[in-house]
Amino acid sequence: MRSVVVQGHRQVSVEQVPDPVLPGPDGAIVAVETAAICGSDLHFYDGDLPFYPVAVGHEVVGRIVEVGTQVSRFHVGERVLVASVAGCGACAGCQTRNPIACHSGAKVFGSGELGGGQSDLLAVPAADFQLLRVPEGIDDEAALLLTDNLGTGWAGAQRADIPPGGTVVVLGLGAVGLCAVRSALVLGAGRVLAVDPVAGRRARAASFGAEPLAPPEGVSIGEAVLAATGGLGADAVIDAVAVDRSLDDAFAAVRATGTISVIGVHDMAPYPMPALMGVFRSITLRMTTAPVHRTWSDLVPLIRHGRLSTTGLFTDVYDLDQAPAAYERIAARTADCVKVRFRVG
Ligand SMILES: [Zn+2]
Ligand SMILES: [Zn+2]
Repeated sequence: MRSVVVQGHRQVSVEQVPDPVLPGPDGAIVAVETAAICGSDLHFYDGDLPFYPVAVGHEVVGRIVEVGTQVSRFHVGERVLVASVAGCGACAGCQTRNPIACHSGAKVFGSGELGGGQSDLLAVPAADFQLLRVPEGIDDEAALLLTDNLGTGWAGAQRADIPPGGTVVVLGLGAVGLCAVRSALVLGAGRVLAVDPVAGRRARAASFGAEPLAPPEGVSIGEAVLAATGGLGADAVIDAVAVDRSLDDAFAAVRATGTISVIGVHDMAPYPMPALMGVFRSITLRMTTAPVHRTWSDLVPLIRHGRLSTTGLFTDVYDLDQAPAAYERIAARTADCVKVRFRVG
């Protein structure tokens, strides 16, 4: 089968590799129909996580072509989406439906631990836990967003303790940041200030209901947020970038007693946290990847009943064989390219 492999810094290729086999009697094989590129795939591509070669991709929608003897909830032929983060499915941690709590340790597809989803076939362990039948009224793009990005934005907004009518800053307006913008509004934010260096991305956030915030030359993001909030600062800051600079901005923009909710993926280096300022200002700092499985019961009804839109995020579609061009396009982080998906099956 074909598999997209990041070979090194800014080097990606489509390789022919052996078909995967069932990962145990509780597993399934999914024939991928469409798979998306995630910002975290770019951490390999850009060299932030230099573990090569790595078969990438963890956002997958497809059809089941094989199930193990212990799989009870799914059958061959069903259309499913695959949670990007995997747990064993059997332990007390997984029973909370948050794979991060798995006692065996959560694993992410396409990061070296499990197969990459930008491929023709994907082996899925603990299929009863890991899969969701694509619900009625959920299109391919919404289904792809339910594997990771929307759950991440949703979890980031939930964990931001947004008071009704409160002011939220979202740092970084890639797909996850834009999902956080929409989630914050659904969860009761009165005002979302959307920050990104790319004007077109701010404009996209504005079309989703946010207020774009672009500090003029010489004015910091923290100063601009203070100016926009009468000197108070934001009730919550959602950091969908998670580099040292954005974390500094988050501490500068949040009000005393406010919450910083980090959903970006930091690089391997430690961050020098302003702990003294944090304690004196009584700041709550939360960091998370998405509790993907747990978000489905919230998000599916919100999407199906039109309360949470998933449109306007996918901007580009490529055939799997065009992966090098697709990666080059998304890595340029231009205004008009937010989220890329592959046609596979
Ligand atoms: Zn992802
Ligand atoms: Zn587990």
